[in-house]
Amino acid sequence: MSPPLPMLPITRPSIDEETIAAVGEVLRSGWITSGPKVQAFEAALSNICGGRPVRAFNSGTATLEVALRLADVGPGDEVITTPLTWVATANVILEVGATPVLVDVDPVTRNIDLEQAEAAVTPRTRALLPVDLAGLPVDRDRLYAIAARHRLRVVEDAAQSFGAAWNGQPIGSMGDFVSFSFHANKNLTTCEGGALVLPHDIDPGLCERRRLQGVKRAADGTMDVDVLGGKFNLTDVAAALGLGQLRRLREFTERRRALARRYFATIEPTLGLTLPVADFHHCNWHMFQPLLPAGSDRGAFIAAMKEEGIGIGVHYPPLHLFSLYRGLGFHAGQFPQAEDVGARTVTLPLFPAMSDGDVDRVCAALRRTLT
Ligand SMILES: *Cc1c(COP(=O)(O)O)cnc(C)c1O
Repeated sequence: MSPPLPMLPITRPSIDEETIAAVGEVLRSGWITSGPKVQAFEAALSNICGGRPVRAFNSGTATLEVALRLADVGPGDEVITTPLTWVATANVILEVGATPVLVDVDPVTRNIDLEQAEAAVTPRTRALLPVDLAGLPVDRDRLYAIAARHRLRVVEDAAQSFGAAWNGQPIGSMGDFVSFSFHANKNLTTCEGGALVLPHDIDPGLCERRRLQGVKRAADGTMDVDVLGGKFNLTDVAAALGLGQLRRLREFTERRRALARRYFATIEPTLGLTLPVADFHHCNWHMFQPLLPAGSDRGAFIAAMKEEGIGIGVHYPPLHLFSLYRGLGFHAGQFPQAEDVGARTVTLPLFPAMSDGDVDRVCAALRRTLT
C-alpha cells in the first residue's frame, strides 16, 4: 500500500523566497513598523484601484470600522448588511454604536438580496454594507443605483474580492468606500492586514488620524490630536510581504479560476451538490463552496472527508444565530435563504499552489463520501 497523501488544507498562502528575503531586509533595516514599505504598498494598491487614495491597516475589520466612522455612521443610524458573512461585517456596525439591519441573501449568488436591501431602507438608514461572498461581487450597478436613490453611503466589504472585477474594472477602482482584508486566508496576505480605498470627498489625512490615535504632526515637529483615532497601522514587515504578494496577484487569481473550472468539470452532477454560480468574468474564486443536498449530515461529511485527507471549511454560519445577535432580537427563521445556505455550505480546498491532481483527489473523495 502506498503511504497516505498529506492532508490537503482548504487554503494555504503562497509566499516565495524573494518575498521572504524582502521581509528579512526590513527586519535588518532598523525600521520595522509603519514607514517606507507601507507607503510603497499603499502606492501599489492605489495603482490597482485606478489611482484612488488607499490607506493600509492592520486588519480588514479596522478598515470597516474606520470607514463607518469616516462616513459619520454612529448611534441612531442603521446600516444594512447580510447575515451570511464573517461576523466582523456586523460587529463593526455595533462597534461604532449603530444598528445592524440584516436582510436575507439571494439563494443563487448567496450575496445580499438587493431588492430586500432597498425595501429595508428607513429614514435612519445611513449606509449599505454589502459583502462579496467567496469573491463574487455584488451587482455594483444595482447597488449604487439604490445608494443614489436613497442618498446612502456604501462601505463595500470586499475582504474576499481583492483581484475580482465588475464590468471589467477591478474591485476598488470604483464606488464609495472599499475595504480589503489581507488576513492569512485571503487571496493576498500580509499575515494580518487590510486596506481602505477612499472616496473623493474624504480627506486621506483624516483617515490616517483615525488609523493612529488621531495624531497630526506639523512640519515644525509639534503635534496635536483633534479627533479620536485607534491603533490600526500596518507594519513595514507586513507591507514588504504585501508587496511581494502583489507582484503575483494576477497569477494567483488566474490559478484560482483554473482550479475552479476544474472543479466544475470534474464534480459529478449525480452527487446532488448545488454548485456556486459559474462566474469566470467577475469572481476571483476566493472560495469554492458547493451546498450539500438538503438534510445532509454536514458533520459526518466533514469527518469522512478528513478521513480521506481533505480539509473542509464552513463559511459561514449565519451571524444572526450567534448569541450576541440573538440577544439583539434576531431569531431563527428570520432569513430562510441565509439559514439554508449556512446549513448546507461546505468550502472545498482552493489555493494557488494546488495542483490539478489535488482537485481530482478532492473530487474522488467527494464521490466516495457522497455515494
Ligand atoms: C476576513 C473578512 C473580514 C475581516 O478581515 P480581518 O482582516 O480578518 O479583520 C471582514 N469581512 C469579511 C467578509 C471577511 O472575509
